Order: sequence, then structure tokens, then C-alpha cells
Amino acid sequence: MRSRILFLGTGGDISLTGRSIRSSGGIIIQTQNCQFHIDPGIGAVLKAAQYGVDIREHTAVLVSHAHTNHAGEIGSLLCALSHNGLDPHGVVIASRSVCQGLHDNIPRLTPFYKSCVEKVIMSEAGNRVGIEDVEIVALATHHTDASAVGFRITTPEFVVSYTSDTAFDKDLAQNYKGSNILILNTLYPFENEAQEGLSSKDVVKILKATMPNLAIITHFGSKMLQANPLYESREIQKQTGVQVVAAEDGLCVDPVSYAAELRQTTLSMFKAVEKDQVQSTRLPEEKG
Ligand SMILES: [Zn+2]
Repeated sequence: MRSRILFLGTGGDISLTGRSIRSSGGIIIQTQNCQFHIDPGIGAVLKAAQYGVDIREHTAVLVSHAHTNHAGEIGSLLCALSHNGLDPHGVVIASRSVCQGLHDNIPRLTPFYKSCVEKVIMSEAGNRVGIEDVEIVALATHHTDASAVGFRITTPEFVVSYTSDTAFDKDLAQNYKGSNILILNTLYPFENEAQEGLSSKDVVKILKATMPNLAIITHFGSKMLQANPLYESREIQKQTGVQVVAAEDGLCVDPVSYAAELRQTTLSMFKAVEKDQVQSTRLPEEKG
């Protein structure tokens, strides 16, 4: 299988995802041997089908925390993955809140959903899990779901980190160092002070400290969408010198082209092209 990162959803605000202006179906990471689904929120099952992803092929489902835009469709996804429990396979790696419940103590993962996979691993910051030739490390966050985690995924071809929802903290930013690609949940634009998540201003600080080969901003709030994520990504890029892409639902990125050993090639390649042109495509939704 050819490696790729596919965004099934880029909405981070229920006023957007609840009206299907942006989905929050999560992120698919495909490597040569594995297929991961991060944060199956609203739209996970539908968008996977629309973009041609076979949920039955998932190796693992990673759920960073229990909020609806991250875990709202975990049950439907696991039913689809296992043919309603008849063919349990794969692994779920999920925060404590997903496994044990958040405010109401009712877990997203019911006993039936747990039975749809071979293993459920409850993830706390710092935990490492090996799945085939991929290592997944849970990263700390500062969020209203206190057990929320981000993920660093190290594959034989590339390293990608996902911040999940978190407020800015310069110590947390250290965890993203060494990533070829950094995916940042950027709820707020430059103009708005961040409240519960990252703003474009925070992203600038993180990128200056971590310098990934590619940064992808996603999980936008309504103010970010009004400000236009494309303009925000251009300004972040200008201030950091890091290649920045504003994700759209259906964005597909070839992660191997951003791997460390290819960095020089990639950089010199970008010198020759317009700043905003990136090695990515937007997948059309499959018809029928
Ligand atoms: Zn959240």
C-alpha cells in the first residue's frame, strides 16, 4: 500500500460539523502495511466511504479524547470495521475518557464496541505501543478533557505527530520535535486569543520551536473559517519559514515526500515553485 495521509474532516466546532459545513470524520494514515483512523468524529463512516477508504481494512483506531468531534462515531466505526461484531479485528488506542467516560462516566466504548476489536489499549501521555512496524506514542495535552492525548506515529517511512485539542504550552511543544509532518488542531485565527485550543499565533510559536518539514492546520472553529484558513496558513508560513497547508475535507498528502532524508530534495523543489503550491491533492468524493 502506498503511504498517504487523508483528511476525512477538518471541522473543530459543532456549529460547523453539526451543519456539515466541515466534517470531523478524522484522519486516515496509510503506511505500507497498516491503516490507522485517528479521531472518528461526526462524518467518520460516511466520509471514509465517500473517499474510498475501506474501514474493514483498519489496523487501529486512535481516539485522542471523548469530545463529539473526535469520538462521536467510534461505535458506528467499530460496527462497520467488524461487520457488527462478527469479525472482530484490529486495535483501539484511546484516552481514559473514551474508555471510562467523561463528565457523565458513560464510556464511548461500550462492552459491545470493545468486543468488535481484538484489543483496547487505554492510552496515557507517554505510553508507547508497537503495531506491526509502527510505533505510536501518546502525547500530553492541556484540554477540558483532562485525559486527552495527542499521538506521535513513527513509521518506517515518516514520522507524523498530531497535537489533538490542546492549549499552547511550550513544554508540550517539545514533544513534537523530530516530526516530519505536524498536524495541528488550530481552532482560532491570529485575531482571536486562543481560549480552549490553539490559535494561529500559537502555531507560529510551536513551529519555530519544532521546525517540521510540513505543518498541516486543521480542526477549525467558526472564527477560523471566517478568517479563511488559507490566508492564515500563508501568514504562519511567512512567519516561520515552515511549509504550511490548510486542510480541507478530502485533502490527501504524500507523507514520504516530507521525510527527513528527502528534506533537501523537497526544499530545493519548493524553491522552484510558488510558496502556496504543495504536494497534495484533494480527493474527489467517489460516486455511487
Ligand atoms: Zn476537545
